[in-house]
Amino acid sequence: MGSAHVAVTVDLARIHAQLAEIRTRTKVRVYAVVKADAYGLGAAAVARAVADVVDGFCVFDLAEALAADLATTGKPTLVLGPPTSLDAALYRRHLIRPAVATREQAETLREAAPTLCIDTGMQRFGCPRERVAEVLATDAISEVWTHGTRLEHVDTLLAATSAHRGPRHAAASALLAEPRSWLDAVRPGIAAYRGAVTATTALVECHRSSGPVGYGGFAAERHGVILCGYAHGLRPGPCSINGRPQRILEVGMQSAYVSIDQADTIGDGVRLLGGGIAEDSVAGAWRCSAHEVILRMSGMGERRYLQPR
Ligand SMILES: *Cc1c(COP(=O)(O)O)cnc(C)c1O
Repeated sequence: MGSAHVAVTVDLARIHAQLAEIRTRTKVRVYAVVKADAYGLGAAAVARAVADVVDGFCVFDLAEALAADLATTGKPTLVLGPPTSLDAALYRRHLIRPAVATREQAETLREAAPTLCIDTGMQRFGCPRERVAEVLATDAISEVWTHGTRLEHVDTLLAATSAHRGPRHAAASALLAEPRSWLDAVRPGIAAYRGAVTATTALVECHRSSGPVGYGGFAAERHGVILCGYAHGLRPGPCSINGRPQRILEVGMQSAYVSIDQADTIGDGVRLLGGGIAEDSVAGAWRCSAHEVILRMSGMGERRYLQPR
């Protein structure tokens, strides 16, 4: 649920530039990860804006690819999660390739050009190393991959598929700094989206504080109020007002208290993300990942897109 008082801007030009940079640097295929509605940014809009610099897309399940109508980009979409349908014709019709983990799934979905997901240590969804040979023996698999966060996962993938001739991939954003992980393709998500989301609201009240303030009775010299709260996903953390760093001090259901400067007045903008407020500093305050910050912030208000070029 978004707040009517928060403006969210998604810079599609920046996402495009970040994916182009990844492609230039790695010189391998780039599959842009647009699962969970492109981390809340809008999968249909993101995919259309970046289709010319990527080789395909990744989603978690079939329904996401259909909802965003990713086939209209002309690029294939890889499903990363377990198959939710065994209808090979349905996948083919929409340029979608399922990920399989067993011999039975590989055979049933043969016509949909399935990829083989291999468990190299995450211990969920993938085909166990010991069973890889039997799935590859079906001859239904052209592409193999693993979800890895460390180089040892990459090494395990290579060892488990040494006889495989087709493309192999492992790297999400966390491994992009390791050239040895790039193999034949990379699957960036957060690396494409960092810095692309700006969330802004405005001060609706400014007070010189008098005694304990708010629910918890916090102490402050001055405080401001904004119309965004935990109903919209907000938590205490950093923000900026008129270019100065401030804090979200206490969060209520649909409003929050913020620290302000003497010069700040009603109507001044409060930057919740972007322009000096980085995902990682919010993530530190929220004790969560940068992925979750982008997902929550992008749903916090009315979304507007800045188009590439
Ligand atoms: C989500 C996901 C990615 C992208 O992860 P980031 O950390 O956002 O780059 C890549 N591969 C798989 C299998 C995933 O589930």
